Amino acid sequence: MDKMVNPRRSRSKSSGPAAGRPTREEAETAVRTLIRWAGDDPDREGLLATPARVVRAYEEWFAGYQDNPRDYLKRTFEETGGYDEVVVLRDIRFESHCEHHMAPIIGRVHIGYLPQNHVVGISKLARLVEVYARRLQIQEKMTAEIATTLDEILKPHGVAVVTEATHQCMTTRGVHKSGVTMVTSRMLGVFRDHAETRQEFLSAIGMRGAGAVSNGSA
Ligand SMILES: [Zn+2]
Repeated sequence: MDKMVNPRRSRSKSSGPAAGRPTREEAETAVRTLIRWAGDDPDREGLLATPARVVRAYEEWFAGYQDNPRDYLKRTFEETGGYDEVVVLRDIRFESHCEHHMAPIIGRVHIGYLPQNHVVGISKLARLVEVYARRLQIQEKMTAEIATTLDEILKPHGVAVVTEATHQCMTTRGVHKSGVTMVTSRMLGVFRDHAETRQEFLSAIGMRGAGAVSNGSA
């Protein structure tokens, strides 16, 4: 069962690291508090090293705050050399965390764009996804951020981004709905304005006839 969702325009600008970042020691103390809140004893042997491990895991999961994708995209785009067809990169796997529960969001992003003057390497598109995924997110916002950043830097004729993901805050708690995939999309330029171009992209990512995918014009 798939749930189609209209991406909403995000209200807040993406922001860098919060001012006055706590020390590693403070972060580890916070993890100890959560362990006690869960009902366990942070001083028992099996848990002694856990706060340090959790804080290191956070450094990895939330590394996206240290990175500005606009900078490296600007440095790395190349001339199209006359290429004027749609470029599609599909099935870019990502792991993120929802900003409501800090629970994992796991899924795939598909990106398409119709270049005007510039193209960008595959690894750079994958890194673009990774930077936004490695922040606290909502799927709708992440989808829009990826599309908007590509649009602003490459200035193509259009950008299409579709994200499919499962949210562990839905599968492991609350409503406990397993097997539910949320699909969000953001279509800009020709992908928004021309049904044929949009369909070409949706077919390329295996969503043939997926006319029900919203075009993100919210
Ligand atoms: Zn959540």
